[in-house]
Amino acid sequence: MSIARDKVLEWIKASADVLAENRDYLIQLDAAIGDADHGANMDRGFKAVMAKMPEISDKDIGTIFKTVGMVLLSTVGGAGGPLYGTFFLQAGMKTARKLELGLEDWAAALESALNGVIMRGKAELNDKTMVDALTPAVNALKQAIEANLPMEQALRLSAEAARQGMEATIPLVARKGRASYLGERSAGHQDPGATSSYLLLKAAADTWTDG
Ligand code: ADP
Ligand code: MG
Repeated sequence: MSIARDKVLEWIKASADVLAENRDYLIQLDAAIGDADHGANMDRGFKAVMAKMPEISDKDIGTIFKTVGMVLLSTVGGAGGPLYGTFFLQAGMKTARKLELGLEDWAAALESALNGVIMRGKAELNDKTMVDALTPAVNALKQAIEANLPMEQALRLSAEAARQGMEATIPLVARKGRASYLGERSAGHQDPGATSSYLLLKAAADTWTDG
């Protein structure tokens, strides 16, 4: 099984939909430990991405991801915009010229995307950021590949690992981003960026597996 270019476009659309649906939820999470803009940022960014998609829907997957990254960089402010911009730019570098992705290609793209976020934001695991959702998701994909699991199962395990990573941010004290200004008071709240990362990977699993 592989993920064809049209399936990648479907994922981006599903992501835009799920971020619009969860706009207020992400705003609430960011209101508790940040500046209450994460939901609006992500929704605005992915609406801009959707406006750009018709122009590039016949291009390769690398070009599509790079375009998503550039649109996010130019439309989303704060920390989230540059970090998700880097995420998609790096995924695009790994998928240059490809018209479909095997499970290994997707794992490599997601790992590069995560490494881009780490390079740019300098967050470590358990700093209470999106890295805490993305890292277990990448690890789950790699383990699934090693165990020769079918793609559908690998994608489900990856989304589930992201969900667990997201929930594990709740007790953590933030050490990066605005939430870190709160110190100990950031504990007890789920990280908004880890939540949007989970939503993106859940959308991927939902789009790329058929029930
Ligand atoms: P801002 O914090 O500038 O308002 P957003 O609200 O859009 O930006 O995004 C906040 C999210 O960005 C946080 O919940 C966290 O997951 C993520 N984040 C912040 N700083 C970093 C960092 N240095 N590395 C990785 N992720 C980060
Ligand atoms: Mg914010």
